[in-house]
Amino acid sequence: MHFDTLAMRAGAEADPETGAVAPPIHLSTTFEHGPDGELPHGYLYGRYANPTQDRLETALAAIDGGSRALAFASGLAATSSFLQALPAGGHVLFADDVYFDVRTIARDYLPRWGLTASHVDMTDLAAVRAALRPETTLLWVETPSNPRLKVADIAALAELAHGIGARLLVDGTFATPALQQPLALGADYVLHSLTKYLGGHTDVLGGAVVFRADDEVVQRCFQVRKTLGAIASPFGCWLVLRGIRSLAVRMERHAANAQAVAEALAAHPSVEAVHYPGLPSHPQHAVAARQMKAFGGMLSFQVRGGLEAAVAVVARVKLFTVATSLGGVESLIEHRASIEGPASPTPANLIRVSVGLEHAGDLIDDLLQALD
Ligand SMILES: *Cc1c(COP(=O)(O)O)cnc(C)c1O
Repeated sequence: MHFDTLAMRAGAEADPETGAVAPPIHLSTTFEHGPDGELPHGYLYGRYANPTQDRLETALAAIDGGSRALAFASGLAATSSFLQALPAGGHVLFADDVYFDVRTIARDYLPRWGLTASHVDMTDLAAVRAALRPETTLLWVETPSNPRLKVADIAALAELAHGIGARLLVDGTFATPALQQPLALGADYVLHSLTKYLGGHTDVLGGAVVFRADDEVVQRCFQVRKTLGAIASPFGCWLVLRGIRSLAVRMERHAANAQAVAEALAAHPSVEAVHYPGLPSHPQHAVAARQMKAFGGMLSFQVRGGLEAAVAVVARVKLFTVATSLGGVESLIEHRASIEGPASPTPANLIRVSVGLEHAGDLIDDLLQALD
């Protein structure tokens, strides 16, 4: 079936008890079991699994073309649980511009979990090859990346990883499964912050890992979630499930709006650079065109005049909401380095935009008046 159909139908069976078409939210933390512990309905305790979460995981696995999916309390809960499930002694090679809190996990927590970490520019395959070590077990790639929208070649990186017996994880939060299918391109795992486009309405935190194979890695990861407790709430799962139903349509509009905004920004004399994979000037435009169905709703741009000018532009917008996060129906804007803090490698004049579903003309008018 096509993506649009899967997104509508996976995990969407009517409730067998009542025929309800909208799925029930199972808030129960415990489930009746037999006197010697047998589970007549398959469920025991809310921290292990519940029917609402099962529906979400069914849908997530289906729309990414995976065998299994596990849902978590947030994108970072998914990140930390997955990394804690890796056998100790391994080396994880991260993208150099990986999500800033993932960078913190790599620096401050991986050593505690018996893992080593280093960073490399994942758009430079020769550099990646040189950064691989005999003990490298995982490549952690974000594409497109946050906040510079760098695009990594998933198929080429999968080949490099598999060549040394390592595996490839792609953080596909910016693209979503509607626009990019990392497992089909050779990746082993896809991570999503469900908080962003999959939820889509700025009202739920969640995370997920989708697995190509239903193997021991899934089991280890499940065990970490169960024992260390980074579980999603049933209501959160329900909200994300609802978001997934409209994902394909939303992503079309997000991408069309972002393309229009990127082109308008690129033509403004106060703009030094626009980072959007849909612009032919983007250094990995060809890779993006090959591996993405459309170029997504996220972009960033750098203004002339440094930090002060960037902050001044953000201060002058009227329609955009000045807020962090992304992937909701409403357009957000922020001066990124201010949010990432002093250790941030993000350029001081960079503004990040999550282009929402408003009319593109209104969004462009607002940005241009702020720049003028
Ligand atoms: C937001 C985000 C995360 C973290 O997800 P949370 O749900 O905020 O924990 C990870 N990766 C990317 C690319 C993100 O944008």
